[in-house]
Amino acid sequence: MSAQQLVNQLRSFLPPDAVLHETEDLKPYECDGLSAYRQLPMIVVLPQTEEQIVKILQLCYATQTPVVARGAGTGLSGGALPHAQGVLLSLAKLKQIIAIDPLARTARVQPGVRNLAISEAAAPYGLYYAPDPSSQIACSIGGNVAENSGGVHCLKYGLTVHNILKLRVLTIDGECLEIGGDSLDSAGYDLLALMTGSEGMLGIVTEITVKLIPKPEKAQLVMAAFDDVQKAGSAVASVIGAGIIPAGMEMMDKITIHAVEEFLHAGYDLNAEAILLCESDGSTEEVADEIRRIHAIMQQSGATNISTSNNEAERLKFWAGRKAAFPVAGRVSPDYYCMDGTIPRKRLADVLRGIEELSQEYGLRCMNVFHAGDGNLHPLILYDANKPGELERTEEFGGKILEMCIHAGGTITGEHGVGMEKINQMCSQFGAGELAMFHAVKAAFDPAGLLNPGKAVPELHRCAEMGAMHVHRGEQKFAELPRF
Ligand SMILES: Cc1cc2nc3c(=O)[nH]c(=O)nc-3n(C[C@H](O)[C@H](O)[C@H](O)COP(=O)(O)OP(=O)(O)OC[C@H]3O[C@@H](n4cnc5c(N)ncnc54)[C@H](O)[C@@H]3O)c2cc1C
Repeated sequence: MSAQQLVNQLRSFLPPDAVLHETEDLKPYECDGLSAYRQLPMIVVLPQTEEQIVKILQLCYATQTPVVARGAGTGLSGGALPHAQGVLLSLAKLKQIIAIDPLARTARVQPGVRNLAISEAAAPYGLYYAPDPSSQIACSIGGNVAENSGGVHCLKYGLTVHNILKLRVLTIDGECLEIGGDSLDSAGYDLLALMTGSEGMLGIVTEITVKLIPKPEKAQLVMAAFDDVQKAGSAVASVIGAGIIPAGMEMMDKITIHAVEEFLHAGYDLNAEAILLCESDGSTEEVADEIRRIHAIMQQSGATNISTSNNEAERLKFWAGRKAAFPVAGRVSPDYYCMDGTIPRKRLADVLRGIEELSQEYGLRCMNVFHAGDGNLHPLILYDANKPGELERTEEFGGKILEMCIHAGGTITGEHGVGMEKINQMCSQFGAGELAMFHAVKAAFDPAGLLNPGKAVPELHRCAEMGAMHVHRGEQKFAELPRF
């Protein structure tokens, strides 16, 4: 079926302004937060109801048209990158908070609702939704589910998967599935966990029941500066080792500290090689005790400068630099490429040293700002897309960082998903057996491969061509791994 015929069919049940196909209307949808990759979709649809989505999917299924779901388009791995011959299905207009149940401490919401809007709606009941990606002002809860998103407070409160109870999901042929339940466990396979983090490849999420938790009575922050990254890394391990689970524990390296301090004046120590932000929340007594213990550990770990927030304004000021680090990268460089790998906490210093060596080898600066408590690194490689070859060097540098994470006993994504960005590194992390299982799961939901094709799970021949296939016979083999 031609694009025009598909547009006509879509317009038979959608309002005219809910079907876009002129180039200038398609342009805003050509990329997500990973703007290095761009592709115009054939058509964009903006439904307002689940019934409309069912019809869109039935039509795409009947005509074998690829479908790419899109929430707010803040994803950083190219998951919402359109398909040239496909329909881009925007969930942005489904933004209703259907119900809040303060007794059950749950909220039922549509997928286009912004992450922060859930906490705002729950605030009058003294409740909030815990996972807090730094993009929470903009990103949608449907996107959070599809990426299993995390955030500063996920060390203590868990990722998206730990904070949702139930989903309504449409399969590619328009059938509605109810997954999960109102209680903590449900019979059958755990399809809720399977769907969470499935990057729009198994179904379209049309409703989410999230857990809400009481707002803590108090939150306080310790900011510790170190003259050595190794010492800061050891301090992270010592805090966790002492049985403390901070509400958040984030690290920034020197280049990040300078970039954000110049912009925001958050009071960061410019002599530091690394700064740790470590938050405690709970009752006033619990927080006082935990802050005292964290302070002592920072001192024993060799911190050169320790400050504790004295009031809410100061706590938010200390956080402001960390929260603005990604946008600040855009001030110090024309382009940046955000990686997302996870490593065991004890390898922090080794891997950061390895990244520094790669930075010199590739002649590209790299800012490190990350969720230190869960070992989730976010190296931001600074580059200029207008300089010939620089994007390619950046991609290669980023790929080596991810392989270094695998080599250190970690994984190629902590929270941003695989999308297009990390598809080659999937070949290094998984063997033929695991990849075949992933393909079988995909085929069970979407036999014709119409939902978000080409993302997240590489074809076996792609891995073979790269020569990067990991061999899973008790021993890992890598084509070529960076030394560190
Ligand atoms: C400045 C900045 C800071 C960020 N900080 C964090 C952070 O701290 N933690 C973190 O985890 N992420 C972070 N991100 C990444 C991003 O915000 C998250 O991945 C977020 O969950 C994406 O949501 P979205 O609505 O923008 O989804 P999109 O980018 O639109 O889509 C993401 C993926 O979800 C799929 N999808 C979207 N909606 C649906 C649906 N209803 N059903 C099925 N599939 C769907 C898409 O196909 C795509 O594969 C950050 C991004 C930016 C730009």
